[in-house]
Amino acid sequence: MSILGHEKEKNIFQTILRSNRLHHAYIFSGRTGSGKKLFARELARSIICEEDSFLETCMCKHCIVATGSQHPDIHLVEETPVKIEVARQISAEAYLSPLSAKRKVYIIDNAHTFTKEAANAILKTLEEPSSDTHFFLITDRYEQILPTIRSRCINIRFSSLISSEVQEILTGLGVEDDLLPIIADQASGSVSYAQFLLDNMDETGRFSPDKSKLELYSEINNLDTKEKIRAYCSSMYAYMLEKYKNSGDETLLDFSNYLLEILKRLEYNVSLDMFRLDLYIKTIEVLCEKS
Ligand SMILES: [Zn+2]
Repeated sequence: MSILGHEKEKNIFQTILRSNRLHHAYIFSGRTGSGKKLFARELARSIICEEDSFLETCMCKHCIVATGSQHPDIHLVEETPVKIEVARQISAEAYLSPLSAKRKVYIIDNAHTFTKEAANAILKTLEEPSSDTHFFLITDRYEQILPTIRSRCINIRFSSLISSEVQEILTGLGVEDDLLPIIADQASGSVSYAQFLLDNMDETGRFSPDKSKLELYSEINNLDTKEKIRAYCSSMYAYMLEKYKNSGDETLLDFSNYLLEILKRLEYNVSLDMFRLDLYIKTIEVLCEKS
């Protein structure tokens, strides 16, 4: 699988691997859904590849097995929190020779959830693993990683994806939706958040103008989380913008801008009650004017 975006990170690791200077422990930090874990998995494959491929399709025996996510020398730890038993097990295994490839890789997700005991159990391993072992710790909360762990790893701060990349990745995953460009815009560089918004949209329904005021009121009133409001307003925004393009009616453009504005306001602590009421009143205004 090819990795979209993240050119900076690709350059860093390509140089490191070519010059054979891979450090033993890295932290990949950055926004949820920006592709850190996927990058780490593909990088792990490049690390054990027999053909020195780098983040590209390769048919060597290790890459084939790793692509199926089952390579015995790539260990993915996803339990949260990371407990002492897991840390002990990693520490014990990390000193053993790789089973099949020349090196082995541990990818530990949610690295900010190490309990103190678990962290203590793995510190020495992180500091001085055997030379054929590499660690990638993944987190969206770098500040919460225990300082003792932080100080033993090199932090690579992942940039967020741009919205066209989010869109491309989702399309690649088979997501088909007319609203994809708008949702990708709203997802601030996070593929998983975009997926989350799409799910919310399916749950709450999408804006449709063919509803009575009462139906509209209850629909808006049921938006009980910021995510539902975000998903609903995004679908409304798409509808209004499309309408504006077809009709050239400035009121619709104003309303689209208002929706963008309130989507921005959602970032802050706002009263959702006030929010819903405001949205309902403005929507009724526009729809009544148009009918
Ligand atoms: Zn390969």
